[in-house]
Amino acid sequence: MSEDYRQARWPEPLLFEIARSNASKYKAVTWHDEMSYDRESIIESIPKSLLRENLNLPEVSEIEVIRHFTRLSQMNYSVSTGFYPLGSCTMKYNPVGNEEVAMMDELINIHPLQDVSTVQGCLEILYRLEKLLCTVTGMDRFSFAPAAGAHGEFAGCLIMRKYHLVKGENRKVIIVPDSAHGTNPASASMAGFEIEEVQSDNKGMVNVEKLKEMMGEDVAGLMLTNPNTIGLFENRIKEIVEIIHSYDGLLYYDGANLNAIAGIVRPGDMGFDIVHLNLHKTFSTPHGGGGPGSGPIGVKKRLEKFLPPPLIAFSPERGYYFEEPDKKSIGRIKAFHGNFLVCVKAYAYLLRLGWQGLREASEISVLASNYLLSKLKSMEGVIVPFDPELPRKHEFVVSFKKLLKDTGVSTIDIAKRLLDYGFHAPTIYFPLIVEEAFMVEPTETEPKRELDRYAETLRQIIKEAYTAPENIKKAPTNMSVNRVDEVKANHPRTITLSWKIYTKRIKSKEEGEEK
Ligand SMILES: *Cc1c(COP(=O)(O)O)cnc(C)c1O
Repeated sequence: MSEDYRQARWPEPLLFEIARSNASKYKAVTWHDEMSYDRESIIESIPKSLLRENLNLPEVSEIEVIRHFTRLSQMNYSVSTGFYPLGSCTMKYNPVGNEEVAMMDELINIHPLQDVSTVQGCLEILYRLEKLLCTVTGMDRFSFAPAAGAHGEFAGCLIMRKYHLVKGENRKVIIVPDSAHGTNPASASMAGFEIEEVQSDNKGMVNVEKLKEMMGEDVAGLMLTNPNTIGLFENRIKEIVEIIHSYDGLLYYDGANLNAIAGIVRPGDMGFDIVHLNLHKTFSTPHGGGGPGSGPIGVKKRLEKFLPPPLIAFSPERGYYFEEPDKKSIGRIKAFHGNFLVCVKAYAYLLRLGWQGLREASEISVLASNYLLSKLKSMEGVIVPFDPELPRKHEFVVSFKKLLKDTGVSTIDIAKRLLDYGFHAPTIYFPLIVEEAFMVEPTETEPKRELDRYAETLRQIIKEAYTAPENIKKAPTNMSVNRVDEVKANHPRTITLSWKIYTKRIKSKEEGEEK
């Protein structure tokens, strides 16, 4: 195993820095000019305050644009480059065939304000996808409004709030486990709830006795994912459901990563009342890079009236149509109808796989995770927290606490060193209940050979930690960017998010120097 991976290093300027006026010879508007559209009346319909003479867009030639973005892609890392085992994130490979389906003219050259009679096929896709998602999750109804997982959680929390308010109860508390994904407490808090954390027991699962003690008339519900973020199936789920329901609380299922259970068990059958899915994790849309995503929110029958629009319905007389939202609906949470093309990919994916294929995908993802864990288990310095014999689901967590003690090499050093071998770092320091956590989700799309290469590389890095720890502390050295200052790299004062901020900062720096 050699660290022969090299990332490109281009001294690539920003497009704004390459730009010059009149660089592009094409004029995209000429087509429209010849067609019968009335430019003047369109301009007239735009509010004066929003009209601009100059958009200040960089003008560059086609070859400059192509080179710019190809070079940037060579300095980047993606699933197309290699293994990307980011736990609790499902960075799996998404079949290109489904992208092609979503690029069909009939699906992309439409407008959300078009009359529904002209987009019957598109509505039918959403209608049928909803039925499939209901079958997969055991829910009765889905809304496609949420644009991401956290957005779905937020909608779900608003539904919990509304459910209790309609009964005349203003319940204030949502319970989340201490192993929860960070978005769970954040979404609940945004929806106006107080968060109470229930501890995990020594098996890494919800401490049911503690949960009982915490329950009361003020608790609106519990947010949970099963398997949990340790990768363990909460085997006391029936009891948990009974406890919450006995206080008329609701159970929210975080279904962002359905890889472990799709086609095998259903949140609805476990007793959950609300669930969101990340179509951009499990169902054939790449996750990350800023979207677009889709986090449809599904509920049991008794909560249907609270769902946000759009809801798609069908009748033989009307065909497919958008249902008028119920008066008790939480209302619109996004303009128009959600991210439609992401739904198209999910639909294509589900049709291609079928129920059996979906089940197989889940089985392989669980197998891959346990296979990799079995290799890591035997390595020096690796601790498997909680019962090491209990099978994991689609992901697992190990701890490098012992390695750190033995060698001074920490989890982040290991993660950085992996980059030098062409592997994306896994999720680290999460979940918070495991010290020096290293969280791996191999996914079902990774070949066995790649899993073996990963395990062998880790073994080599661990050996290096014991023999030459100073090497690891310097990693990565083969990337386009060497080790970054993690604090600075996350601080709004130091990261420059736009050209506008960039020029402002340069200017104020120059002014500072003049003085
Ligand atoms: C990714 C993820 C989320 C959030 O999804 P986004 O689309 O990133 O908002 C929520 N919960 C879990 C368990 C996740 O893995």
